[in-house]
Amino acid sequence: MEIRCLTSESSLTIDFQSDACRLALALVFLHQSVQNPAAGTAPPASPLSSASPFHLLPGLLAMRSLLPCLLLPFCVCAETLSAEQPENTAVAFADWFEDRALRLEFVVAGHAAEHSIALQEIFEEPCWPENPAMLVPARQLCSTRARLYDVATGRLICQRSLDTLFSEYTTTTPAAHKIRRSFEFVVRFPRPKAPVKLVLEERSRNYQYEPVFETTIQPDDLHIRSESVQQDEIHELKIAGPPQNSLDITFLSEGYTAEQAADFKADVQRMSDFLMNQPPYSDFRDRISIRGVFRPSPEQGTDEPHRRIYKNTNLGATFNIFDLDRYLLSEQNHMIHRMAAQVPSDTVVLLANSKTYGGGAVCLDYCISTTGHNNSPFVFLHEFAHSFAGLADEYTGNVAYNQMYPDDQEPMEANITRNLNRETLKWRHLLSPAVELPTPVLPQPEASEKQLVGAFEGGGYVQKGIFRPEQDCWMGSLRKDEGFCAVCREAIRQTITGHLGNQPLPPAASPQATP
Ligand SMILES: [Zn+2]
Repeated sequence: MEIRCLTSESSLTIDFQSDACRLALALVFLHQSVQNPAAGTAPPASPLSSASPFHLLPGLLAMRSLLPCLLLPFCVCAETLSAEQPENTAVAFADWFEDRALRLEFVVAGHAAEHSIALQEIFEEPCWPENPAMLVPARQLCSTRARLYDVATGRLICQRSLDTLFSEYTTTTPAAHKIRRSFEFVVRFPRPKAPVKLVLEERSRNYQYEPVFETTIQPDDLHIRSESVQQDEIHELKIAGPPQNSLDITFLSEGYTAEQAADFKADVQRMSDFLMNQPPYSDFRDRISIRGVFRPSPEQGTDEPHRRIYKNTNLGATFNIFDLDRYLLSEQNHMIHRMAAQVPSDTVVLLANSKTYGGGAVCLDYCISTTGHNNSPFVFLHEFAHSFAGLADEYTGNVAYNQMYPDDQEPMEANITRNLNRETLKWRHLLSPAVELPTPVLPQPEASEKQLVGAFEGGGYVQKGIFRPEQDCWMGSLRKDEGFCAVCREAIRQTITGHLGNQPLPPAASPQATP
């Protein structure tokens, strides 16, 4: 698949000093779409264990199977950085930015064959909560990246990865039938001191990023909205330190009525406690801040269209995303981030006040889980691993859908591979001594006792040709005594440390735990 878009003659620079340009907003371009099956991820459905409660994915895969050639993995690692776009991690924050953030709200509309992106509004946030030393992270995640260049020097001064729900929509049957839909997304970066050019790039079939949108931003643009957004009830359950030196997790209420404010606070406490007790998060307890933002919904619950249940809630979360019964997301992406902006936020979690099993995630954007099901804490951690750390699903689905990851491409996620060469295997440093590759599945309890790190066949929704690190992991099934495998723990750990500022980090030991 190739992208045919944003050639130099078709690109458009938007000057936000101009109202006309603000209204016109977008450059429109046509291309064969970049696909991203994990832009929104639903709870796994084809468990490695019959004990798993996951049972959503076959429907999702069945839908995607209609478009096998369009499917792409959703994470890209540092190796894909092109030579002309060198990694630049030495940007000194104070030289280029103020301790505030700009959040750009975008709309993307189209179908599988073409789409257009439009900038809607720019908001200022009162602080930059992320690690100021990670302005240009080496690790590339997700289907889209936003790059910020200083206009005067042309220097790359900030880079962010993101996914959009639109990229998943393009894999669906309606999108293939050219039914246009629109989706919201946001991009956030520190407030620059001087004019900057923002370039959005999307990943092509060959894992190269291609520019698809650009605009110039003047820091003194009077249209940048800097009004206070404080309006909701804020719960600071645990403050680890200054936002720039901490991982700041923000929980948003969804489907809690005014009378259920205490229920929301209790659910935030319960979910965050579960996370804090699970390696590798447990190694960073003192570095993780937990905040809840409560906004009452007129009605309790969430939409369940397959049951003809519709609830008036503040973020509009709904099951049946892309017609899948257990796939839960909110498509009000702008409102999610406006609500989260009331507190310093590195990553956002929506808690939906429902007993129905389900959840979903958008890579490096947000995740959502219901709170009233017995397995809700496990669903939350599984979805959080997608949205926070960009991990892949390790479970298998219908073998007919073996094009989720192209045969000729190594999946870029940290926790699945097609490569069985122990000298080049991406998790070779974690392999158990003398482990056989591929690694035979062991019976229980031997499997749990040995916890071999090898290459077990089956993962990434297929039973053959893709391998996972351990026999069991929460990215593959929800056997409650498993936790995350060693490779997933390492990837999560790296993501956490990337959010932490210049303070001593906890020791590396992260034993497998029983939650
Ligand atoms: Zn794993």
